[in-house]
Amino acid sequence: MSTSDEEIWEECPEEEDDYEEIYREYLEGSQESIFWNAPSSAVQLAGTNKFLLVNGPDAGQVSEIGDVSETEPGTAPPLINRDGALDGSLPLFLTHKGGQHHRHLSHALARLHQSHGDNISLGVILKVYGQSAQASRGFFEQCATAAVRIADPMCYLLDENILRLKKDPVSKSALSRAPYLRDPDDKNFLGRVLNAQREIGANLLLTPGRALDADNPKQSINALFEEGERAMSLLGSGERLALNITTPARWLISESLREQLFNELLDHEEHQIWFVRSQWRSQRSHTQPADIELLNGYKRLSELALDEDRRLLLPQTGLTGWLMLAHGAKGFGIGSSGTDQAFTEPSFGRKPGATRKERYFERQLLHTVERNVHDVLASLPDYQPCTCPYCSTLLSSPAWSHEFAGLHLLYSIGRLTAEIQKDSNNGYHPAIRRIVNRASRYVADKGLTDINAPQHLSAWGQLL
Ligand SMILES: [Zn+2]
Repeated sequence: MSTSDEEIWEECPEEEDDYEEIYREYLEGSQESIFWNAPSSAVQLAGTNKFLLVNGPDAGQVSEIGDVSETEPGTAPPLINRDGALDGSLPLFLTHKGGQHHRHLSHALARLHQSHGDNISLGVILKVYGQSAQASRGFFEQCATAAVRIADPMCYLLDENILRLKKDPVSKSALSRAPYLRDPDDKNFLGRVLNAQREIGANLLLTPGRALDADNPKQSINALFEEGERAMSLLGSGERLALNITTPARWLISESLREQLFNELLDHEEHQIWFVRSQWRSQRSHTQPADIELLNGYKRLSELALDEDRRLLLPQTGLTGWLMLAHGAKGFGIGSSGTDQAFTEPSFGRKPGATRKERYFERQLLHTVERNVHDVLASLPDYQPCTCPYCSTLLSSPAWSHEFAGLHLLYSIGRLTAEIQKDSNNGYHPAIRRIVNRASRYVADKGLTDINAPQHLSAWGQLL
């Protein structure tokens, strides 16, 4: 287990306001500011008289033409709505708004939509308490390309006895912004949880998502579905609900626990959308779990969703979630920081004053490596440089931009998701297997070790 390469900001994502202040100071005069201060430009949304802003301070929003200085050639695909994203055939790429580097997520989403919107649908996930309600609404508005908007109520933080959580998981600011967390036994708890999401502007509501207890499986599952049934009865016209399921990894690994849950999911046809988060063992930042039993549990769940025509969304799973598209998952969640890509048991934070690791996602490896390792790989003849909107600035600046590295990661995995849709006639399995096989061949002679080695690839190969 790593204790040195976790990042301190990833440990306290709710302290966002402090972060913003530091970030503003840091941005002044940086190389990134040149990029972000570029003049506004826009691209026409095909078949409409509207324009998607793809550069400038309002990138990500949709505008009438009057207020942009420049238009880019070509058109972007028309925007799709929530039901088009949930019920249509495209994979759903969900972006988590983390505690850091989220200011320009809407830029990455706009660029992804512009170039790949024919092959992926987009969504965003924020935490109800992650910022003020007004800031949450603003974020949703900024991300006009996100067809699905989710405000995670984070009620599993109340389940310290079931999950492994950091000490005092519900902070003071969380309690003030999500007061329902104060009183889960209140008879209106469920209504308050749903209302908090509505007020922010979420368009796919979640049930509270209290963690399932492996020591009381029957009782836990009953409570989940009772709550789901009551939540359904509280929906207004046009509202949609996802059954929010949080479990320790054991539930996916143990055949008996898995079957109990799967049987109930099967029986409750009213729940068309499953939002499933399973807590992984502590692992190093930016790595994927290689536990074949856990991966197999995810695979079985994905197959169940596919067979039963339900939509399985796997928040906070990063590339592992992408892999599950091969088996029938509809979408997965990823962010630009380590914590938004893996729901793990907590590990120790970075020591104060320790340098933050400079990391780069290598598309050919399906893995994130240290910057110096990237430099070596990039000097080899079989290297394919990234063409995302961020890499030319990222890789030509002397100072490493963690923000650009995060946006590059996000954009690259969005592109990988679009690629499998484009490359598939009949399900994503063959397309994903080809990409994974290529990565396994690519890594073979690279001599990568420790955190730079994509140790998940052999488990993935077995699974596929
Ligand atoms: Zn890139």
